[in-house]
Parts: sequence; structure tokens; C-alpha cells
Amino acid sequence: MKTFNVPVIYRSPLISAIKNQRKQQDRMKKDFTPTELDFGPLRILLARHFGFCYGVENAIEIAFKTVDENPDKRIFLLSEMIHNPHVNNDLLDRGVQFIMDTSGNQLVPWESLQPDDIVIIPAFGTTLETEQQLASLGIEPLKYNTTCPFVERVWNKADQIGKKNYTVIVHGKPKHEETRATFSHSASGTPTIVVKDIKEAALLAEFITGQRKPDEFNALFKGQYSPGFNPATDLQRVGVVNQTTMLATETQAIADYIRQVMMTHFQLTEATAGERFADTRDTLCYATNDNQTAVTGMLQESADLAIVVGGYNSSNTSHLVELCEEKLPTYFISSPEKMLSAKAINHWDFHHKEEINAGSFLPEKEKVTILLTSGASCPDALVEGVIRRLLSFYQLEHKADEMAIID
Ligand code: SF4
Repeated sequence: MKTFNVPVIYRSPLISAIKNQRKQQDRMKKDFTPTELDFGPLRILLARHFGFCYGVENAIEIAFKTVDENPDKRIFLLSEMIHNPHVNNDLLDRGVQFIMDTSGNQLVPWESLQPDDIVIIPAFGTTLETEQQLASLGIEPLKYNTTCPFVERVWNKADQIGKKNYTVIVHGKPKHEETRATFSHSASGTPTIVVKDIKEAALLAEFITGQRKPDEFNALFKGQYSPGFNPATDLQRVGVVNQTTMLATETQAIADYIRQVMMTHFQLTEATAGERFADTRDTLCYATNDNQTAVTGMLQESADLAIVVGGYNSSNTSHLVELCEEKLPTYFISSPEKMLSAKAINHWDFHHKEEINAGSFLPEKEKVTILLTSGASCPDALVEGVIRRLLSFYQLEHKADEMAIID
């Protein structure tokens, strides 16, 4: 896979050494067991895959290069570059301005933009409406485009099935930048609706089967369907695509469920299912798959707790947390400093969207085992920082330096 020129501050010699070693040993990415870092009283099990993905590295490379090459121009990002506060703050420090916040609220008025301004499209992509808005201001919308190719692949899949008269069901968070972009692209060619989880999929199924009257549809799916969507006629042939960072197992469950509903309602067989349900299995992103499978592999080991590092608004990171939480106490932190001491940690409760303070998070026992991973937008330097900080609670910081030299 292509390598990118990412600022060295985001890299970690320790983590790079570990990742390279694992890569050499497992070129086909078949082994999802974690890497064991045994420091005596502290044992860290590091996920097989974590950290910056292709799309994030691509976006960072383009954004920083654009800043370096255009010192005399005003540079804007449509919204957050990726969902990581460290990277976003570094760009803000270099004078980049964000036009919208992550929910799509305007921070910089469109009318203040000039034709010679640079506007960078983030890794999530953007809506066709925003592209038109930029073009109307005399700004070439796709000149500085960091949209991830794996997101574009989803748009292409939606386009392909739309052309075959299937309605597109997007499994995603309705307000997430990527889902809004996917929705916009898909809705330009075919009726499209967003479902955020299996519950909403079940609700949609009641319109497919006619259990619910079409006039209930508007209220139940407000803001989540394309203009003119008619549940009576637009749910006859469907396909499911996803926001690339959703829980892979949940997307699969939704697709399987909707497929079964279509088969039962329209009395289809395995051979004829394709008449009403499009096969879209390949829209899951490789990084989401690898990172989630690595967490599943890591969770086979017994441990005392899990730490997941990433931006609090990062969708893919929250899903890693969700997986860990099912099995053991889990702390979602955005930086090593959130571990205030061995007896106090501030961590993000993504269910209630608030940072909470937990007391003693490290159990008092002879050997503590911690599972550690991070999201696809988290710099490896932060994961190294977490390892070093944990070691400091055991007066073992020097062990990290020794490890970095080993490779
Ligand atoms: S998580 Fe996947 S789709 Fe999203 S930016 Fe990374 S590689 Fe692209």
C-alpha cells in the first residue's frame, strides 16, 4: 500500500517498530492476535491493527502540503479534517480555518470566501450541494480534495445499484459528515434513506411489509430520506451501503435482516433474492474491518481493562470502545494526559456524551493486563504516550526506550 508523508510529530518510533515487525511476520494479515508487551507488573496487549488508515494519511499529507505550498493564501477546510483534535488543532495553529463544524453548522459565512481562497475537502467527502456552493463562489470544489477512495467506493456502489432501480439504504449516523456526503451523492441518482441502527431498520421493514401506513413515514424518518421519497413505491427494490466506519457486524446484521424481510414479503428464493435486494457486501472499509477484527482478536485474551485512544467525535473509535465494553471495563481517552494518575482518569462516556472522572482505574494486583488500541484517526505518537504514561505509574518509563531500540 502507498506510503504517505505524514508529519513526524504524529509518528512513534516505538509503535512503528512494533507494526513493522508484525507486518514482516504476517504479510497476509491473517493473524489478529495482539502484540504482548510485558513490563513485569504491567502487561500491555496491543491490538494487531490500529491507528492512521490510508484515507487519514492521504488527507493529512494533502492538507499539510497545501499549507506549506501556499503561504500567501487563505486556506479553509470544509469541516474537521478528520475526527482527531490534535491534528485539527495543528492545522488551526497553521492558520487553516474551518468553514463548518462537525454537525454542519456554519462557522465562516460562504459570502466571505473569495475565488482565490483554497478550500480543502476532508477525508469524509462532502455533499453535492456544498460542491455547487463552492463553484458558485468561483472556487474549484475538487482542486484540494482529500475524500478517501474507500468513501468514494461506497458512492460508486450506491450509484451502480441506483442505476438498476434499487433504493439505497445507508447504514450510518444521519448527522455524520460522511453519511451526509454519501446520502447527497446517492440521493442525486436514486431514492435514498439513512438508518442509524437495527431498530430503525426494523421500523423501515414495517413500511416494506405494509404493517405501517405510508403517512407515518415522514415523522419517523424526518430528515433521513431524499426529497419525494415514497415508502409505498420506493421500497420495492433495495440495497444497503454503509458509513465506512460503522460496526461491520451491525451493517451485516442490517443487510441480512432487510434481505430476509424482502425475501419473505415478496416470496423470493435464494436464487431470486437479487431481484429485490442488491448485493453490496464490499462497501465495508478495510481499516474498519482490520481494526474491529483486531479488537475481537485482542478480546480473546483475559485482561483487567481496555484503553481506547481517539477523538471523542470519532465514529470508528467509538465502535472499538463498544466492542471492548461488552467484555471488560473500558476507558475511551483522547490523550495520555487524561490518565491523571494511577488513581484517576478522565474518560469519555460516548453513550451520554460526557467526560467523566473514574477513580482508581488500575487494579492493585501483582500484574495488571491492559488491552490497548486506537481509532483510525489517532496518531501513533499518542498511543506511545499512553504506554509511557502507564509505565510511569510503575516507575518503568525507561522500559519504553529499551523497546524502541530492540527492532
Ligand atoms: S476509515 Fe476507511 S473510509 Fe474512513 S478514511 Fe480511513 S480508510 Fe478511508
